[in-house]
Amino acid sequence: MSKVTVKDLDVKGRHVIVRVDFNVPHKNGVITDDNRIMAALPTINYLTENGAKVLLLSHLGKVKTEEDKAKNDMSIVAARLAEVQKAPVKFVNATRGAELEEAVKAQEEGSIVLMQNTRYEKGESKNDPELGAYWASLGDLFVEDAFGSVHRAHASTVGIPTHLPAAVGFLVEKELNVLGKALNDPQRPFVAILGGAKVSDKIAVIENLLKIADKVIIGGGMSYTFSGAQGGKIGTSLFEADRVELAKEFLAKGEGKLFLPVDTVVANAFDDATDVKTVKAGEIPDGYMGLDIGPETIELFKKELAGAKTVFWNGPMGVFEKPEYAVGTIEVCKAIAALDGATTIIGGGDSASAAKNLGFADKFSHISTGGGASLEYMEGKELPGVAIIPEKA
Ligand code: AMP
Repeated sequence: MSKVTVKDLDVKGRHVIVRVDFNVPHKNGVITDDNRIMAALPTINYLTENGAKVLLLSHLGKVKTEEDKAKNDMSIVAARLAEVQKAPVKFVNATRGAELEEAVKAQEEGSIVLMQNTRYEKGESKNDPELGAYWASLGDLFVEDAFGSVHRAHASTVGIPTHLPAAVGFLVEKELNVLGKALNDPQRPFVAILGGAKVSDKIAVIENLLKIADKVIIGGGMSYTFSGAQGGKIGTSLFEADRVELAKEFLAKGEGKLFLPVDTVVANAFDDATDVKTVKAGEIPDGYMGLDIGPETIELFKKELAGAKTVFWNGPMGVFEKPEYAVGTIEVCKAIAALDGATTIIGGGDSASAAKNLGFADKFSHISTGGGASLEYMEGKELPGVAIIPEKA
């Protein structure tokens, strides 16, 4: 079964509310990476070219205080959006009320209204039913294209489509196709490679991937909890004592398919280290912390990745923000990018930035636009913003 898509809707002359992900990084009013805006364009352009009256909704950043509001003003996105596509864009500095309603009413076919940040409304994150119903009253149809937000049951992702005929946009459709294939019918061997700081953030995904993938490779900060669980010495490395039993369970379940670092780059301090060296995994001296995988591990991980036909990668292999501990992440990135004839997927977040910064973005089959959403999807969880969209008849 597949979801109703924007192409299944008759959009001409209709008011179409589109939940997009315009949560772009920005500093001092300047957008530092407009990828998310660009990723939303196929759906927006399709709608405007087919005579829809488009109302765009998105959140931008976290909004808790008045200061946050000023910082996360959606008008910066409106300016960029007007530059990158042809349709006229009207920005409305409101999330409800007469100005918004009038702007929508006055729309011509093929025009765009972009509303202020959805999180200016307290009820957004609580999926306040009144708010969802109110926003739904501004449109005839709803399109879900904010993959980065579909794991959240908010008024703009779940509230609105409970009231309107709804479909997924091209971005969400593509994400579901690629991730869904890896999850449900992967070309094998399927190798998952997981890194990042904490086991606790990745428990459910490790658990599910141990069932589905042929191999699960674990690097990064979370590997030291596994090393500790095996009785290794881990010095002052990241360690979650309350996850040791779970790590033991995973080690037992994953016997033969779970791969951990065999050596590690350690330093005597996180910042301004005076001594950095490589030691065997489980033999980290007191006062030292593991900050990257070592050269033998890089070779091991490359060997285990060789021949893979599907790869899912989430999380850096070390503290890749510091060049001296970025080697493991860079080498893993290169190894995945060089695989021949494989579907290679990056689950968003830090690994996506690493691949982009290295200039490898176009060497991957798919870089997910939603770190949290792609992880939850690979955990086998239902994504509320997707579940609410009907299946094709
Ligand atoms: P996550 O958001 O869970 O994918 O974690 C990403 C973060 O994990 C990055 O900021 C990395 O610097 C951090 N990280 C990766 N390896 C280590 C490590 N060995 N020690 C401390 N932090 C790490």
